[in-house]
Amino acid sequence: RHVPEDINILIDQMQPLKLRGYQPWDVFCRAISSLMDNALLPQDGKGVMVALRPVPGYRSEQALTLCHTNRLGDIVTLSDNRVVLFLSFCRINDLDTALRHIFPLPVGDIFSNRMVWYEDSQIAAEIVQMQAMNPEKWVKPLAVSVEISEARNVKRGGEIVRRVPVPVTLLKASKGERA
Ligand code: C2E
Ligand code: C2E
Repeated sequence: RHVPEDINILIDQMQPLKLRGYQPWDVFCRAISSLMDNALLPQDGKGVMVALRPVPGYRSEQALTLCHTNRLGDIVTLSDNRVVLFLSFCRINDLDTALRHIFPLPVGDIFSNRMVWYEDSQIAAEIVQMQAMNPEKWVKPLAVSVEISEARNVKRGGEIVRRVPVPVTLLKASKGERA
């Protein structure tokens, strides 16, 4: 009787990470930790975690602005000196392919060092280490100065500043004339 409901629960558990992009440190750790506990997902096939250290002179917040995660389940977080990515269901051999999709520049130009974890036990152990980090060391992404919708609708003295486009019809046929 309840088959459809059960199937939905099952499907839901097989696509567990409904997150994409930047996540605060604690949210990232909790998400990966519960993913590792999910027995419905393939053992050692849940994804790849990679920590990337920016080249000298670059901050991790700056490197994050170049990180465009496309796939649902690809998440990223920040510490003071590294960008940590989790790539859902990515295989270790495909790591470079995935990174090429995510960063618009060669990864070697942005980061000088990487650490990779891809087995459940390695990932789980690293998450435990990460969870032990003092919250004072968490790093926030750079603030986006103006949201796009705010910029589009900017007002001065209550008036919309941007010109509102008006449709124009070219070569409109006048009366008695053929179009
Ligand atoms: P999604 O998994 O959230 O991926 C969103 C977008 O990220 C994709 O849009 C695509 O532009 C990019 N992307 C993700 N993974 C890969 C990859 O392995 N290789 C490449 N080249 N691009 C990738 P797109 O193509 O419009 O797909 C939209 C959604 O359709 C995907 O969302 C996914 O849910 C599904 N989908 C499309 N193709 C496949 C597929 O071959 N396998 C699976 N499992 N799902 C797919
Ligand atoms: P591909 O684009 O050459 O990607 C090869 C493998 O790299 C993928 O194998 C996956 O393990 C990894 N990968 C690539 N991009 C991403 C990413 O954005 N995020 C993550 N987490 N992993 C990524 P997979 O998933 O078996 O896909 C095999 C091929 O199927 C892909 O080759 C691509 O041609 C196609 N494909 C898979 N998903 C999508 C999708 O969402 N959209 C499109 N357009 N194609 C997809």
